[in-house]
Amino acid sequence: MNIHEYQAKDILKSYGVTIQEGIVADTPEKAVEAAKELNRETGTEWYVVKAQIHAGGRGKGKVQETGSNGVVLAKSLDEVKPKSEAILGGTLVTHQTGAEGKKVNKVLIAQDVYYPGESEPKEYYLSILLDRAKGCNVIMASTEGGMDIETVAEETPEKIVKEWIDPAVGLQGFQARKVAFALGLEGQAFKEMVKFIFSLYKAYEATDSSQFEINPVLKTSDNKILAVDAKVNLDDNALYRHKDIAEMRDLSEEDPLEVEAGQNGLNYVKLDGNVGCMVNGAGLAMATMDIIKLSGGEPANFLDVGGGANAQTVEAGFRIILKDPNVKAILINIFGGIVRCDRVANGVVEAYKSIGDIDVPIIVRLQGTNAEEGAKIIDESGLKVVSAVVLKDAAEKVKEVLA
Ligand code: GDP
Ligand code: MN
Repeated sequence: MNIHEYQAKDILKSYGVTIQEGIVADTPEKAVEAAKELNRETGTEWYVVKAQIHAGGRGKGKVQETGSNGVVLAKSLDEVKPKSEAILGGTLVTHQTGAEGKKVNKVLIAQDVYYPGESEPKEYYLSILLDRAKGCNVIMASTEGGMDIETVAEETPEKIVKEWIDPAVGLQGFQARKVAFALGLEGQAFKEMVKFIFSLYKAYEATDSSQFEINPVLKTSDNKILAVDAKVNLDDNALYRHKDIAEMRDLSEEDPLEVEAGQNGLNYVKLDGNVGCMVNGAGLAMATMDIIKLSGGEPANFLDVGGGANAQTVEAGFRIILKDPNVKAILINIFGGIVRCDRVANGVVEAYKSIGDIDVPIIVRLQGTNAEEGAKIIDESGLKVVSAVVLKDAAEKVKEVLA
């Protein structure tokens, strides 16, 4: 699960991570109130207005309707309202949102932390994530803060340092110091960075996160270390242990079909292709997607209806696939193990009838328990459903209907 920057910063702060302070607002008027409050709390007189969407690249991104960037500086209280107005309610397009962009419902009014002082403010990159190949967490850091880490990795990989954390002993002091040292820090800033890394790692572990990306981490002109941005990715499978975090979910940021699938207990991932598929079991779903590709199609989705699929889940899955306008054919591939094929067939027929007017060809392959009864139900239903017996047949039929 992803959360917004303002929510991520709240979590980080509760674990002692020093952050760029801010207050969230959903109207220009509340943005002004937030700025006044922030001025009372921090004394800041310059503010940053930051669009809250589940995507990065906001600083360089543009609000379609107004041309404003997604992160802008307001150099007085008077500027906060018009600058918030230019972002709120607009559609922000960044390199991560795709051309359609994302609607901005909230802005974070943050303190400007790039104030002048004894030294220049300097941006760093810091992230913690799970290294699946090594089976442990890794801290990644770079002096190239504010840049896309993918670009840094491609052009100057030597500027990224990595420190792997042994899960049995946890983050060690020498490791945090090694990272801070590699970033070229010294004195007060070095000490603060070591503390920052420790608090950040504590937050990462305690929240069962799978990725933290703080880009940039800022060394202020008076040598404070602050999280200016925060991308936090949580492990869905651990959310039941974090009810307070689970409540931070913002469904408006997620794909509506994926949300609907989740509510029906279906494991659905929307893809860009034209062949919808409904399968039971993740492994069979992967194999089915391969078959679709081999037959010249592109999968429109991944959909695992689960081992215990019944007529209702089949119907729900069917409806979700049909709501995707790109779908030109549907392949249903069910292995009847726990679920019986006749039940699935009934589910398909029921769904077909209740949805009505389906003009995409449907290829059904049922194997396993009661497969023959299932095929019979499909054949006798009088519906334009093609039943296939073996997977190769199914693939051939997908090819035929796409031709
Ligand atoms: P992103 O573009 O979605 O990654 O959003 P960030 O939160 O990283 O902000 C984008 C950029 O805005 C940062 O890299 C900074 O250069 C700039 N920025 C953020 N906060 C401040 C601030 O307090 N003052 C100034 N002057 N710039 C800021
Ligand atoms: Mn950023």
